[in-house]
Amino acid sequence: MPQLPFRPLATTLIRKTVGLAAVCTLSLSLIQGLLTYQSVTDRSLSRLADIATAQAPAFAEVLWTVDRTSINLMLEALQKVGDSGYAEVWTPRSDPTGYDPRPEQASFDVFGSAGDPRFRTTAASVSVPLLRPGLAKPIGELLLTIDPALVYREVARAAAAVLLSSALTAALLIGVVVWVLKRDLQRPMSRLSQFVASLAADDLSQTLDLQRPPRSRQDEIDRVDQGFRLLQGRLAEHIQTLENQVADRTAHLEQALCELKTLSTTDALTGCRNRLYFSQQLDTELQRARRYARPLSLVFCDIDHFKQVNDQHGHAVGDQLLKATGEILRGELRSSCGDWVARYGGEEFVLVLPETSLDAAAALAERVRTRMAEYTGIPLADGSRLRRSMSFGVASLQVDESESALLQRADQRLYEAKRNGRNRVVTEAPTQV
Ligand code: GH3
Ligand code: MG
Ligand code: MG
Repeated sequence: MPQLPFRPLATTLIRKTVGLAAVCTLSLSLIQGLLTYQSVTDRSLSRLADIATAQAPAFAEVLWTVDRTSINLMLEALQKVGDSGYAEVWTPRSDPTGYDPRPEQASFDVFGSAGDPRFRTTAASVSVPLLRPGLAKPIGELLLTIDPALVYREVARAAAAVLLSSALTAALLIGVVVWVLKRDLQRPMSRLSQFVASLAADDLSQTLDLQRPPRSRQDEIDRVDQGFRLLQGRLAEHIQTLENQVADRTAHLEQALCELKTLSTTDALTGCRNRLYFSQQLDTELQRARRYARPLSLVFCDIDHFKQVNDQHGHAVGDQLLKATGEILRGELRSSCGDWVARYGGEEFVLVLPETSLDAAAALAERVRTRMAEYTGIPLADGSRLRRSMSFGVASLQVDESESALLQRADQRLYEAKRNGRNRVVTEAPTQV
């Protein structure tokens, strides 16, 4: 929709009201003028008719004596006193067709006249016959016309009075309409539009105040106000619900992500950390130990003669033993101290022991070895139980040592433990514990 220039509704209503009032006022004045014209004309004609009738005998008398001077004097006097604009006495010509009372038809002579002769044809007139006793036909006629100026004056006065009173009434009414419109429509609506423009989707808490004076009845603006509050409340509720849903889903997603991270860094069979996690996390542990010059030990552990388990009892039993070994290793570690265990590959595990000296690591390895040796074992189909010992190689991080060098030393210690008879712990100095 094209952007039209703004005009308040109240202004449009006021303009239309003023226009309508002007048309009504002018129409009323016109009607009043016409009515006044009619009544003034009727009244003047009747008055002129009375005067003419009363004066007719005198005029007949003077006309009979053919006294033009007297007739003219009498006509002048008559024309001045009444509402007459023109007075005339005419006589029929000696015409074989005889007397015709219609002046325009008859052949006549104007015997005498007074006033403006143009009014003879333009203004309303009355005429009375001038009769002589003993004569059947009139000897002439007395014609009186209305003075149009008098009529127009009265018409103008009446129209002006109507115009003035109508204009006053209209002005009063318009004043009241303007006041009511501004107070009850324009101000609340402009406050409402300002309020709507200031609303933001993330803040629907601000309230609408139309500042209307107290009233005993509601109107459409109140309904709009109520509807708006209702809509605002529902929107806020809806947004809150959406926010709750988003928060819920985000929490679920974060939890799922966390679980996924754990899964992706955990070995599914043993529950220990997997090789990928070991590679990534060991680097972090080494950096920390080097930066703060803290001890860090590794223990490589390997199940002894595990291949035989698979060969003699099958992979499923081998898996069970791997799982049980993972549980034992995890159970012996103090995870609160930052110790953790990873499945390095196959039946080989590695214990990562930050803040742990070589001796403490060797003692822990020995504890685990004992725990494995005491383990009751996996129950087999024939009722016997299967268990295996473990061999351990312990090494501690040395100053400026690389990760691979540390891993190699720990692996060498494990190799030595195997070579020296298995089920034992070998530390840096190849001593048998
Ligand atoms: P040693 O005492 O010298 O360590 O002998 P060993 O038999 O334990 O070692 P070896 O490396 O010869 O055999 C390891 C076996 O572990 C071979 C492989 O089949 C088995 N193995 C590796 N991963 C898994 C697994 O996930 N499940 C099962 N059941 N067996 C596995
Ligand atoms: Mg082995
Ligand atoms: Mg092995």
